[in-house]
Amino acid sequence: MILKNEKEKETLKEAGRRLAVLLSEVAELVHPGVSTDVLDRKAEEVIRMFGDVPAFLNYQPYGAPRPYPATLCIAVNSTVVHGIPNEDPVVLKEGDIIGLDSGLIHEGIVVDSGVTVPVGEVDNAAKKLMSVTKDALYVGIAAAKVGNTVGDIGHAIESFVKPHGYGIVRELCGHGVGNKVHEEPNIPNFGRAGEGAVLREGEVIAIEPMLNEGTEKVIFDRNGYSVRTKDDKRSAHFEHTIVVTKNGPLIMTKK
Ligand code: MG
Ligand code: MG
Repeated sequence: MILKNEKEKETLKEAGRRLAVLLSEVAELVHPGVSTDVLDRKAEEVIRMFGDVPAFLNYQPYGAPRPYPATLCIAVNSTVVHGIPNEDPVVLKEGDIIGLDSGLIHEGIVVDSGVTVPVGEVDNAAKKLMSVTKDALYVGIAAAKVGNTVGDIGHAIESFVKPHGYGIVRELCGHGVGNKVHEEPNIPNFGRAGEGAVLREGEVIAIEPMLNEGTEKVIFDRNGYSVRTKDDKRSAHFEHTIVVTKNGPLIMTKK
């Protein structure tokens, strides 16, 4: 969406703040022995308590075989994104990493955000994977300037990640957001500077690098949603909804 006025921006900001609170409340429940369906119930409970609507529950992305059945998308270890916490619950183990991704609709405005967090104590390789992925998100955000293109964002992320040798997932990408969960433009996490859609003042987008320890290749599960790495190595994901403004990018999904 393109923001039309200050009031819309304030609503978006409040939506983003609520989603940030939600993700941190869910993240606090992440411990060894916890089943991911518990995290999903918590996410739905918190969103309903806000008086808002879960954006992912019953949402059917273009090309998906059925509506998404949960409030939260989870991604444990080699799952890249879109693990279904209530249909395929996973009991978390010490040393796992888990991606938590959710969206909510506040007064008609949709926001989308995700983090990857450790389960108990994790190894150094997991810590590095998470921290580089988080940094890649901020590098992408910094490139989201009025007049830049989606290719500039992808190029910035790809150039930053390359020296680390991680696989950048190519089949999934960031996207416009605000009126719906997924809107134009698509925002790949790789690309050529100056190519693709031009970013406009007030444009609301979600940037979300997905980095793999090994190959960039992924497998789509028969459940219609879950994506995992082809070599079964770990993957991390971070995402923010931001607004492109003439004063630079503003992160909306923060407390
Ligand atoms: Mg998301
Ligand atoms: Mg997204």
